[in-house]
Amino acid sequence: MADTVKFDRIAIVGAGLIGSSVARAIMRAGAAKTLAVADANDAVIKEARDLGFAHEFHADAKQAVADADIVILAVPVGAMASVGANIASGLKPGAIVSDVGSVKEGVFKALDPLLPDHVHLIPGHPVAGTEQSGPAAGFASLFDGRWCILTPSANTDAAALDRLTRLWEALGSKVEIMTAPHHDLVLAITSHVPHLIAYNIVGTASDLEEVTRSEVIKYSAGGFRDFTRIAASDPTMWRDVFLNNKDAVLEMLGRFSEDLTALQRAIRWGDGDALFDLFTRTRDIRRRIIDAGQDEETADFGRHHEE
Ligand code: NAP
Repeated sequence: MADTVKFDRIAIVGAGLIGSSVARAIMRAGAAKTLAVADANDAVIKEARDLGFAHEFHADAKQAVADADIVILAVPVGAMASVGANIASGLKPGAIVSDVGSVKEGVFKALDPLLPDHVHLIPGHPVAGTEQSGPAAGFASLFDGRWCILTPSANTDAAALDRLTRLWEALGSKVEIMTAPHHDLVLAITSHVPHLIAYNIVGTASDLEEVTRSEVIKYSAGGFRDFTRIAASDPTMWRDVFLNNKDAVLEMLGRFSEDLTALQRAIRWGDGDALFDLFTRTRDIRRRIIDAGQDEETADFGRHHEE
């Protein structure tokens, strides 16, 4: 791990799965003299206070961000603009404003016009998570060994980018820099379309008339169960992802549909070689993900972790 960077004050807006995990990781790293967390939901902020993963807890984000060196927005992508409008006048000159949203170009376009020129807006996305939501679901090691993608613009201040990079490294992440549009295209195929497929297959299974719902549940170990884990992901978060990464998702879905049609044809014509070749290639991708340390050999659909 790189030398721990230390900030006088860090503020996190949104105390759910990701916001609370960032908070716990900041506390674990000792990266802030004062860590302030805000959430608009009274029940969430009460639960966060009980869990005690920060120094200060606020219902009003503007109070949390006052005098903060870094502000991290951890709310659904569709809520970024309203949070930005609320906190804009309370940000101190030189503050770094970042986020953890799963879409990057839309977040930048939503926040950039709202924030004062005297702050550094550098969007980010830790590529780590679970299908759970809320403050109790977070844990400090969520980002260990996982990638965090930062998407600075052409005129981003290099020193601010370096400080944000060092913060994510202190939280256990490996940092990658890319443009926001490229991020959105990559994540469309690695995350957004897979979630859409899971939502769709679970929806189709639950609508079937020839197979009872109890049979679907009883025999779910045949592959369906693994889709249900992904399809249990937060509805608000994923609605916002699809509404805000429309072009990239539609582009990848187009390619997906063409490949699915080719598979359909291979099955119809009994082309076993085509099926075997594809399944051999896909098995190799799985192996490479394990070799890259991005998953374990053993299945862990409950995502066990310490704490
Ligand atoms: P979450 O557990 O639902 O937490 C979001 C929190 O933000 C909730 O407590 C929510 O309150 C609060 N909130 C909503 N609007 C707000 C506002 N205007 N002001 C203050 N607080 C507000 O969601 P999450 O999974 O942590 O996701 C947060 C962000 O991380 C999203 O942008 C998502 O795309 C990104 N992300 C998620 C994952 C993942 O695996 N889940 C991974 C990487 C990145 P309510 O309960 O009232 O809605």
